[in-house]
Order: sequence, then structure tokens, then C-alpha cells
Amino acid sequence: MASTKVKVLIIGSGPAGYTAAIYAARAGLTPVLYTGGQPGGQLTITNDVENFPGYPDGVNGPAMMIDLQKQAERFGTKIHYAQVTSVDFSGYPLKVTVDEKDEVVAEAVIVATGASAKYLGIPSEQAFANNGVSACAVCDGYFYRGKEVAVVGAGDSAAEEATYLSKLVTKVHLIVRRDEMRASKIMQQRVKNTPNIEIHWNSDTDEILGDQAGVNGVRIVNNKTGVKTTLKIEGFFLAIGHKPNTDIFKGQLTMDDAGYVKVVPGSTQTSIEGVFAVGDVADRVYRQAVTAAGTGCMGALDAERFLVAKELEVAHS
Ligand code: NDP
Repeated sequence: MASTKVKVLIIGSGPAGYTAAIYAARAGLTPVLYTGGQPGGQLTITNDVENFPGYPDGVNGPAMMIDLQKQAERFGTKIHYAQVTSVDFSGYPLKVTVDEKDEVVAEAVIVATGASAKYLGIPSEQAFANNGVSACAVCDGYFYRGKEVAVVGAGDSAAEEATYLSKLVTKVHLIVRRDEMRASKIMQQRVKNTPNIEIHWNSDTDEILGDQAGVNGVRIVNNKTGVKTTLKIEGFFLAIGHKPNTDIFKGQLTMDDAGYVKVVPGSTQTSIEGVFAVGDVADRVYRQAVTAAGTGCMGALDAERFLVAKELEVAHS
């Protein structure tokens, strides 16, 4: 087993991880970043990003992530295309294992492993990913202006996304698997009061339909009566929740009931000294590229302050 020592270790390569890397590198901390299994993160499965400030004409998601990577490298970040497979934060310095074999010992760790949208698990959903199927209405809704779409889910996200989309599209079909919604009363009321949202109760998604041009329908099935109905839609939005990518931190970092890493409000400080959490892994509400980048910056500044305090402690001991 090889063992290397680093000052600042960043786990994850989305906007949060790369922004943390840019700030840490510019502070002279020569960060080392492990990309994980999906280099570039969730934005690499998005076509155009039109809501990141500074791009008046929008930017291609994967291209934006390459730019962020280059910017991080320009200031001295070392990037490794490898996966952190376990961590040991029980002592100091902090230890992680990469690809189940190599040990990295770090003075500070920035966790930026993100969250993944949950999918229904039907084959057609993958077949039309990025071609009519989306897990982010705020990111992709604009492309369906003047068209009909469907949203699946019944929580606050589904209610919010259906309401958001209703302002852009001609009609939103909300597919709800039970006879009630989990969303807060006020959000449900908003959905029910929006004339161009139709709720399909007790309904499961049977198949997303389409061809090479993309999605052109969805077949739903009423789970009480078995009756199947085909809705003519061009966009299918998943809003059945997200799963934070925190499996490797279980038992090491304090998390909330949904598995998001808990941080001290207004900072990126986790329950372990020297470990900071940034981006979607610690954010179950906003989950935007720009908020991830913002907290990535905070994480690097928090890590820098932590390391300075640690050095002063050593100097005075
Ligand atoms: P939730 O876990 O709250 O809701 C997920 C919804 O998806 C549930 O209604 C669930 O149905 C449904 N669902 C799950 N799996 C399937 C499936 N396979 N097929 C069909 N439906 C399915 O996730 P959200 O993302 O909505 O919210 C996460 C958290 O973020 C919540 O705490 C929420 O309050 C918060 N939030 C707050 C917002 C705000 O305040 N503005 C906006 C967005 C989120 P069922 O009810 O039957 O289990």
C-alpha cells in the first residue's frame, strides 16, 4: 500500500470541488483533488447551463467543467482520476483510502462528493437521458417552452418544479403514485390552483415513449384500476428526491436523516475538525451549480483558516 501526505485533500470534481481547489491553490496550499467516478459531476450530464452568472449565451455543462478543471490546474491543483473508497477520520492527520489500496494522509479534507438524483429505474429513462428526460427543471425547463411536459414525484421538489414549469410550458402532467402528496400544504395548494397543472393520482410511470428526436409521450398506469393512459409530452422531469453521495462517510461524519452531511450553519465545518463539506453533499435545499461553487469557496477559506490556526498552535507548543 502506497502512502502519500498532502496538505489539502478535495474529494469530488463538481463546481464545489473545483472552486474549493481554485481558492486553495491560489492560497498556496497545493490541493490534491480526487475526481471520483463521474469526473465533472452532475453538470456533465446536462447540455446547456444558462443560469450560471457570467455566461450570457449559456455554456455547455461538460465544457464548463473542463474550464473549471483547467482553472484549478492553472494554480497548481493536482488532479487524480481515482475514487476515494473509504475514510478514517478517527485521528489526526486525516486518512483516506483511494481505489481500495492507496493511503492518503491529509491535514485538511474538503468533502465535495455531491448528490445524485434518484431515478425510477426503468430502461426508457436512461435511453432518453438528456434527450427529453431531465432531473432538474430549473436547469432544463427553458428548453420546453410552449410544450407539454410531465413531472413525476409528490414532494416539495415535485410541487416546486411543476409550478416552475407551468410558467414556461403549455401543460404540466404531475404523476403522483399515491392518492395524496407529501409536499407541504402551501406548495400543494399552489399546484392545485395552477390551471395548467393536471395531477394524475395513483399513477406509476410505465414507459417513456419516443424516438431518435427525443421523448414524445409517457405511458402511465393507474395502480388501483390497472388502466393505462398515454400522455403526449416532450419533456419528462424526475423529482423523486436526491441521494447525497455520503456512503463512505457513514459513522465518520454527522449527517441528517436523509444522509446529507451536517455543517455548522454559516460555515462548512463538519463534526470532525479539519473536515469541511461543500456543495450538494451538505445542501438538501438549493442544489444549484452556483451555490455549490459558493460553498466550495467557503470550504477552501475555512480549510485555510484551520491550517493557519493549527500551525500557530504547533509554533506555540
Ligand atoms: P422527498 O423525499 O420529500 O419526496 C420524494 C417524492 O417522490 C415523494 O412524494 C415520493 O412519493 C416520490 N417518489 C419516490 N420514489 C418514487 C417512485 N419510484 N415513483 C414515484 N414517486 C416516487 O424529496 P424532495 O426532493 O421533494 O424533497 C427533499 C427535501 O427537500 C424535503 O425535506 C423537502 O421539504 C425539501 N425541499 C424544500 C423545498 C422548499 O421548501 N422550497 C423545495 C424542494 C425540496 P411518496 O410520497 O409516495 O413516498
